[in-house]
Amino acid sequence: MNDKEIRAWQLECQAKDLIKKMEKRGFNAVYTPTAEEAKTAVLGLLPTEGVIALLGSQTMNQLGVYADLRTSGRELVDHATQTKGLTPEEAHNYRRRAFTAEAMLASANAVDADGRLYNIDGVGNRVASMIYGPNKVVLAIGMNKLAPTPEEAWRRARNTASPMNNKRIDKPNPCVKSGRCHDCQLPSSICNYFTTIDRSLPEGRINVVLIGEEFGY
Ligand code: SF4
Repeated sequence: MNDKEIRAWQLECQAKDLIKKMEKRGFNAVYTPTAEEAKTAVLGLLPTEGVIALLGSQTMNQLGVYADLRTSGRELVDHATQTKGLTPEEAHNYRRRAFTAEAMLASANAVDADGRLYNIDGVGNRVASMIYGPNKVVLAIGMNKLAPTPEEAWRRARNTASPMNNKRIDKPNPCVKSGRCHDCQLPSSICNYFTTIDRSLPEGRINVVLIGEEFGY
């Protein structure tokens, strides 16, 4: 085995263990070694009818899932492309449509070794939709987001994912200068809602596609 194959073997071992723990928590979880397989798995999990909500996710963007859905003719709730030029109130009302979508897509900021999901959200529409609303939740998560403990998962969400998201959308927050979180408590902060999802209720509502490659932040 070469180094790449050994790394792939180790990721697959970790994913198998993680899937068993996620299934005990009511999540449906699968492992896909490559981006191509991940994209196929995500699209295969979508219902054939009904509205699909695209929530903020660099992983889904990098997989090309959102680009495909935007040209598929499916009815979407897609705040990233549809709220430009709207007033804050109009954008808020548009985002609320995700709650009645048939399915939603996103990722997570971290997952711990016991299979819990961790997210930090600015507005809250992404995490609120994960918790309640759409009948089906599909999350694509690169194995780079696996953290050994809850503490490390929060550290990852706060110090890796959030500063990178701030940089991506060019926010005037201190993390953009240092690359780490300063718990800024500023009105411009995108870190307002910290959620842990321990279980899926109903069981099977939350579907996780784990990816054996680095994706997202
Ligand atoms: S500095 Fe503020 S905006 Fe940046 S990651 Fe920390 S809490 Fe979030």
